[in-house]
Amino acid sequence: MTDARDSMFMKAALAQAQAAAAIGEAPIGAIIVDPTTDEIIAEAHNQPISLKDPTGHAEILALRKAAIKRDNYRLTGLEMFVTLEPCAMCAGAISHARIKRVVFAADDAKGGAVLNGPKFFDQPTCHWRPEISAGLMAEDSAKMLKDFFKARRKEQAEEKAQNKAKIKAEKKDGA
Ligand code: ZN
Repeated sequence: MTDARDSMFMKAALAQAQAAAAIGEAPIGAIIVDPTTDEIIAEAHNQPISLKDPTGHAEILALRKAAIKRDNYRLTGLEMFVTLEPCAMCAGAISHARIKRVVFAADDAKGGAVLNGPKFFDQPTCHWRPEISAGLMAEDSAKMLKDFFKARRKEQAEEKAQNKAKIKAEKKDGA
């Protein structure tokens, strides 16, 4: 397992993250790879808003696609590359799926559950622990997320200002 190989797959996950940002979803991407052939089995990006599905995280969607493709709910031996530290829900699903190895880019102090928060895979109630590699291309992922949320905050502030101006104008008209 070379760094170049892992970077190549993380780039594919980052491309998925970009696709999420393009439709207004938080830029998080995940891919699932078969290390015996280096084939990408599934690719997905975050889309809870567009799917109206609170479980619509990149990891969950990638696991679903891979399981259908493999015709098996166990994904034993496969690897996941994801651009952000998985949350508790996704860590649970990764464990249920028997994923062999998880490589994630940026860590997530707020919502992560691997190195942060509940540290799901370290709990005695977790019955399947994948190998974990953290930090690969973390800056690229973190920058994408930072830029996305910065732009969104700006949009929200502008919207708020417009609404305020509208209310002011309406009040004036009414007087
Ligand atoms: Zn998640």
